[in-house]
Amino acid sequence: MRKRKLILIMIAAMALSGCGKSASVITTNSEDNSSTQEVFAMDTYMTVTAYGDDSDAAVEEAVEEINRIDKMLSTGNPNSEIAKLDLVGEITLSQEAAGLVARALEIGEDVDGAFNIAIYPVVDLWGFYNDNYHVPTDSELEEAMALTNVADISFNQENGDISFANQEMAIDLGGIAKGYTSDRIMEIFEEHDCSGIVSLGGNIQAIGEKSDGSKWKIAIQDPNDTSSYLGYLETDPVAVVTSGGYERYFEEDGVTYHHIIDPATGYPADNGVISASIISDDGTLADALSTSVFVMGLSDATTYWRNHKDDFDMILYTDDGNLYVTSGIADIFESDLDVTIIKINDKTGDTNSKSPDS
Ligand code: ADP
Ligand code: MG
Repeated sequence: MRKRKLILIMIAAMALSGCGKSASVITTNSEDNSSTQEVFAMDTYMTVTAYGDDSDAAVEEAVEEINRIDKMLSTGNPNSEIAKLDLVGEITLSQEAAGLVARALEIGEDVDGAFNIAIYPVVDLWGFYNDNYHVPTDSELEEAMALTNVADISFNQENGDISFANQEMAIDLGGIAKGYTSDRIMEIFEEHDCSGIVSLGGNIQAIGEKSDGSKWKIAIQDPNDTSSYLGYLETDPVAVVTSGGYERYFEEDGVTYHHIIDPATGYPADNGVISASIISDDGTLADALSTSVFVMGLSDATTYWRNHKDDFDMILYTDDGNLYVTSGIADIFESDLDVTIIKINDKTGDTNSKSPDS
């Protein structure tokens, strides 16, 4: 039996989840062969949608994959490889987990430490793992910061052996695992000859063509009002990953503290950027870089992008209400706000212009 149905998916994930989300998918599709599932995993709400004759199997397999990766990597799962490593300070990782640790360390080095999987003790000190929020004292922070040096991790990717110089150290792949998972789901969709789109707690990734030939439409949430949008992309299949201080935070004495820590200070990144989105074909990279550029701030992120513009584009929103978009996506990003285009050479940008100079 074939019936046409209009599928309108709006994942305003903030409404679904207590900890809040950053991007959403608006998909309008006339399809008769789609399949969607929602799951809660990796501490967030996820939606998986596939289109194609085999979409049921594709989505089923995708959900199994989410749960498998969660079990392998999640610090919240005491049986995961990472949780065991964190508990005893040494382990032999599976090839897959070792591969992701290697990637995370590599990106961390490339962004000069803005992304640091060893930041765990500091995130923990602030209370973000157990909702036991607290602004640390200087001496507490100093003690925790001493445990975040990636040079104190000895790691052999070949055989998976990893150990910490100090057993109190711990790592967390939370800033990269969802990106890796969406990459894996795209592979599964491809194997099933499906197109589709996933939202893993604000990590959006799409693959394939929509049946009506239109582009994927991916909105970027307004960090000040998560029921509205800064703008949206009309794009070929890509990953769009957003990090925002509004996703998880607490208030003490009128000051807001969020969960993305600047590894240089041990304090929540506080450079004016309040939302950072990365657009890339590589979901794993996009996830790690969204955290990284949020930590770097506008100026360093711009320099970094200019040196890596073939690998990603970005959208940054600052607390003074300015919206910045790199030239590679300026043509496909729609917004009612004034947009400053970050160009390859020009340091000043070009407010209100929509024409990239590349
Ligand atoms: P979310 O997981 O909320 O979507 P991110 O992808 O930006 O947001 O990852 C933030 C998570 O990564 C935090 O919850 C924390 O566990 C960890 N983290 C915080 N700061 C850093 C950092 N500078 N580098 C790597 N991981 C970090
Ligand atoms: Mg991230």
